[in-house]
Amino acid sequence: MKAISGTNLEQAKSHNRRVVIEAIRTNGPLSRAALARLTALSTQTVSNIVEELEGSELLKAEAPLKAARGQPITPYSINPNGAYSIGLELERDHAVGVLTDLSGRVRARIEKAVDRPTPGEAMPILAGIADELLRSFRFDRARLLGAGIAMPGRYAAEGVTSLSPVTLPGWQDFPVARELAGLISAPVLIENDATAAAIGERLYGVARGLSSFVYLFLGGGIGAGMFLDGHLYKGSRSNAGEIGHMIVVPNGLACVCGKRGCLDRYVSLGSAYEYLDIRDFEQHDPETLAALIEKGKTRIDAWAEAAAEPMRQTIDFLELAFDPQTIVLGGSMPPSLLQRLVRQLEPLHTPVNPGAERNLPRIMIGATGRDTAILGAAALPIFSETNPQFDVLQKPLG
Ligand SMILES: [Zn+2]
Repeated sequence: MKAISGTNLEQAKSHNRRVVIEAIRTNGPLSRAALARLTALSTQTVSNIVEELEGSELLKAEAPLKAARGQPITPYSINPNGAYSIGLELERDHAVGVLTDLSGRVRARIEKAVDRPTPGEAMPILAGIADELLRSFRFDRARLLGAGIAMPGRYAAEGVTSLSPVTLPGWQDFPVARELAGLISAPVLIENDATAAAIGERLYGVARGLSSFVYLFLGGGIGAGMFLDGHLYKGSRSNAGEIGHMIVVPNGLACVCGKRGCLDRYVSLGSAYEYLDIRDFEQHDPETLAALIEKGKTRIDAWAEAAAEPMRQTIDFLELAFDPQTIVLGGSMPPSLLQRLVRQLEPLHTPVNPGAERNLPRIMIGATGRDTAILGAAALPIFSETNPQFDVLQKPLG
């Protein structure tokens, strides 16, 4: 058997540190014993990690609680000021940035309108948002872990667009993360919007503490973020979840990807606006769109009716393929449209074990609304296995 290398040990250590931080972020203050129980790490490992994290001011000890027997118990909580990160989201019609502290609290938020920007147009806007965020809240810059960015499409680990000819034009092969990291002088991690939203919903929303769920991101298109058996599932080329181009209507409507009858053509925001004869929905502000939706109620009803069966088919497939605890629906689709669609979905197709007791509904609407993806993006620098900056922070800062 090959010996475990030092690097692997280091990686395991930093993985365990993230596990400890996530357990406390999700559950609130926890003692070492409770942490060991929750994380299945040994008491000794937990003690070492807690000591390190306290030393670098990422955790802080709360007032000890008197125990019925023996030593008083010290609960540990997140030190919100221990680290900060930036979350960015770029969609076809808007760019948003948030600055969050280690507890996930949003300390600053900036939004700008864009119109299907090319990389050359978007990079200075995103860097400008990051710069404004950093200037609008005072904190020790050495404690900035980096930035996470959520975008439509699928991305490989290095941040190079791998395959997405259909979302934002001109972005194929553009090294978003590397370019942006240069502009803002901090590490940048990139994730597709559906996966970022799955992270956001797991940290802050209805998927809190779940080990297996699928997040369906409905926006300009439709994509899935998959959190399975406690891990994000991204596939061999980071393209897992690109379900918008799954054929749901054989020989159906033509899709930009070259196929016919793709899910995107029936369930996305674009398909809903087609029913309202709105071609360039990116050009309108949310209030105007809400008014148009209200005015076109009967056409929206027709859209929801047409979208329901492809959606039911998709839910049926995802349940059968992945056996998730629930499927969470959300994204940048206006809530009125999403709710209209969800009302149309029942009855869902018969599940594989109809008699089995469930403690969660088969489908749920996400809790964190439009900010789900950006909150997930902001969490990337904290929870990503690939952010070297996180380990720098483990050393006590001068
Ligand atoms: Zn397609």
